[in-house]
Amino acid sequence: MLTSTNPHTLKEVYEVEEFSMAQVNKAIEKADECFKSWRKCTFSERSDLMMAAANELKQNKEEYAKDITLEMGKPISQAIAEVEKCAWVCEYYAQHAAEQLANKHIETDAQESYVNYEPIGAVLAIMPWNYPFWQVFRFAAPALMAGNVGLLKHASNVMKSAANIEKVFARAGFPEGCFTNLPISSGKIEPILKNKKVKAVTLTGSMPAGSAVASVAGSQIKKSVLELGGSNALVVFDDCNMEETVKTCVQARYQNTGQSCIAGKRLLLQKSIAEDFTKKFVDAVRKLKSGDPMDKDTYVGPMARVDLAEELEKQLEESVSQGAKILLGGNRKNAHFEPTVVGNVTPDMTIFKEETFGPLIGITVFETAEEAVRLVNQSDFGLGVSLFTENIQAAKQRIPQFDDGAVFVNELVKSDPRLPFGGTKISGYGRELSLDGIQEFVNKKTVYIK
Ligand code: NDP
Repeated sequence: MLTSTNPHTLKEVYEVEEFSMAQVNKAIEKADECFKSWRKCTFSERSDLMMAAANELKQNKEEYAKDITLEMGKPISQAIAEVEKCAWVCEYYAQHAAEQLANKHIETDAQESYVNYEPIGAVLAIMPWNYPFWQVFRFAAPALMAGNVGLLKHASNVMKSAANIEKVFARAGFPEGCFTNLPISSGKIEPILKNKKVKAVTLTGSMPAGSAVASVAGSQIKKSVLELGGSNALVVFDDCNMEETVKTCVQARYQNTGQSCIAGKRLLLQKSIAEDFTKKFVDAVRKLKSGDPMDKDTYVGPMARVDLAEELEKQLEESVSQGAKILLGGNRKNAHFEPTVVGNVTPDMTIFKEETFGPLIGITVFETAEEAVRLVNQSDFGLGVSLFTENIQAAKQRIPQFDDGAVFVNELVKSDPRLPFGGTKISGYGRELSLDGIQEFVNKKTVYIK
């Protein structure tokens, strides 16, 4: 049995019987059957269905958001915004897939030569609980528009949301087998990846999960896309717009109760403004409303599971024993972790080196831009970095020096259907969203006509 526990009340809110391997294999058969006809549909037919999915999400956003909040504690206003963003990615690909996958003509000595983008079949998506809808839709919208079919293995603690997502596609009128939720634990992934009818896999989650899945996929010569953790830096230079920067940095770290791969986890402050900025930042964090996630005004809710909050507490304790200083918060009650700010953080400390997946930020002071670049790149992760400065020219010159998958200037790192999204180093490989995302799971067939 897979169960979801409300992290605010600690009461069970949903349970579902796990699929047996026989049920899984039957679902894969059905998905493969569906693929045979789905791949022949026109872009316009697929687009109509994807627009219907967008409408379904918009019309019933409160219903879906409520289940997200009950299962993993996301504050309800942010859960509603998440569902709305899913509608956006559906609309985006409904409108752009045809042009993104149109034949690409390339002049050669042939009479005609071009690249034809064809679907590959069933793609398995292994997804996490932190954005239970968004992580899935940003995979499903491009994958289905490309003519693939989707199989979902969602995180064990958000199985109601997984069932709801399947419902969205069914209500929108997608054929049976086009998008299938598999209520299973991770133990069943290996045989699924070894099934010949499953052609590729995408995983968003932790590094150990990514490494395990990519190893099996590799052994089968199947493509994988990995979107793993991050430890993004927020680099604040002394010429920044202080007020705006404080606001953006607070949002970058504390929205979604800090449980985001692209959250700003390391706050790097230039020495001359460090004291003033820290004071303003701590004041702003103190004002964040924590509490019951069903309350529309709550900004910081419980973390998704008690064990995740315990892990964060351990990272904090370790860092304090290494010399870090708690400037605000630091306490935990069950899954509720106080919004926390920690100073005196150096690169050898746990909260600098590891990903902290909750409402906690570590502050490190730097003197020169060169030192800031070194500190940013010192992380094993490489998802993104935010630079805050009024000197855009200088910022642009520094962009090539960062190892990350994204650099945002005067903005938090965020995903947008129009822009590629993904990391470097142990943050993973491959790209989601935009043109790059829809072209990950296609056969780029070369055609040459003499
Ligand atoms: P996991 O990486 O364990 O879970 C993510 C998904 O992978 C879930 O569907 C999970 O299934 C599945 N999974 C886990 N292990 C395997 C495996 N060996 N083979 C196949 N599938 C697997 O995340 P956790 O929930 O344990 O969170 C731990 C940490 O991971 C967080 O603190 C954070 O650092 C990072 N994380 C990063 C996310 C991101 O957005 N990049 C999102 C979530 C977590 P199941 O739930 O059944 O175990």
